[in-house]
Amino acid sequence: MKALVLKEYNRFSYEDVPVPEIGAEDVLIRVKACGICGSDAHGIDGSTGRRIPPIIMGHEAAGVIERVGGNVVDWKVGERVTFDSTIVMRPDFYSQKGVFNLSDYRRVLGVSCDEYRQHGAFAEFVAVPQSILYRLPEGLSFEQAAMVEPVSVAFHAVGLLDSEINDSALVIGCGMIGLFVVQALRIRGCGEIIAVDLDPSRLDAALKFGADHAINGKDPDIADKIRQLTRGRGPDLAVEAVGTTPTIDLAVRGVRKGGQVVLVGNFASKIEVPLQVIVTRQIRITGSCASAGEYPACLDMIANGRVKVDEMISAVVPLAEAADWFFRLHKGEPGLMKVIVAP
Ligand SMILES: [Zn+2]
Repeated sequence: MKALVLKEYNRFSYEDVPVPEIGAEDVLIRVKACGICGSDAHGIDGSTGRRIPPIIMGHEAAGVIERVGGNVVDWKVGERVTFDSTIVMRPDFYSQKGVFNLSDYRRVLGVSCDEYRQHGAFAEFVAVPQSILYRLPEGLSFEQAAMVEPVSVAFHAVGLLDSEINDSALVIGCGMIGLFVVQALRIRGCGEIIAVDLDPSRLDAALKFGADHAINGKDPDIADKIRQLTRGRGPDLAVEAVGTTPTIDLAVRGVRKGGQVVLVGNFASKIEVPLQVIVTRQIRITGSCASAGEYPACLDMIANGRVKVDEMISAVVPLAEAADWFFRLHKGEPGLMKVIVAP
């Protein structure tokens, strides 16, 4: 089969590789669509240490079942499916508590690091365990289904907030995850939603997807403006979808006393936080990792149009041309959101 292999840092090869073997609990999927994740695009230069070559990346995929293993009874050849990016290799303390995204035996498809290598879906076929499969609702395209991972990441982050109806919320960073966060907050019953980004086109998108106010992060009066929009107190909730010192600082200072901040952005490995602001204003800060069980609901909401994904898809490209798009995403080409590869 053809695959896009990261041969060494910053060098891909589109080449023939063996079709993956499947075990008794696995299915082989003919990949129809696979999104390029931000973590894939950042990972190609070696800076994250999570994409050690040689590796076939790709964990946001959908396709058709081509073959099933001996112990697979609930899944049939020809079914349209997507799958969770997280594979839990065996049950442990965390998976039994339902937080399998935190399992010690968690692997992410298409990721290689020191401990393991698990080839992903930038290929004609990918092998995955039946335990992570989901059927596609009727009418949902493969491209739309490939968006379920980032949608689930946003719903997971928002789900970690103890929100009440009509709570006000601040969303910092209106890239793809931030825009899904805006949609998720709206669906979860939030009131005023204030979006912050540096890019005016992203702010426009945030307004379109349900934010009430959009403020440019460069605005010197941003803190005052946020307070004015929230009865002088600051919003009840904040979701930070960037992951840098100034943006996290804004989230922490922005929320009201006793407010909650969820951190889903993961850009810098270390940041500085205003400790006294957090302690004396009793701010609750929670990290959010991947997703844990949100896929079926998100697939339904994409299929019935309650969550809008089509606008986030910048391009659908053939596998043979995908390498070029990795570099364009890596450079941070303006206006590019999700690029979907169709092997
Ligand atoms: Zn991803």
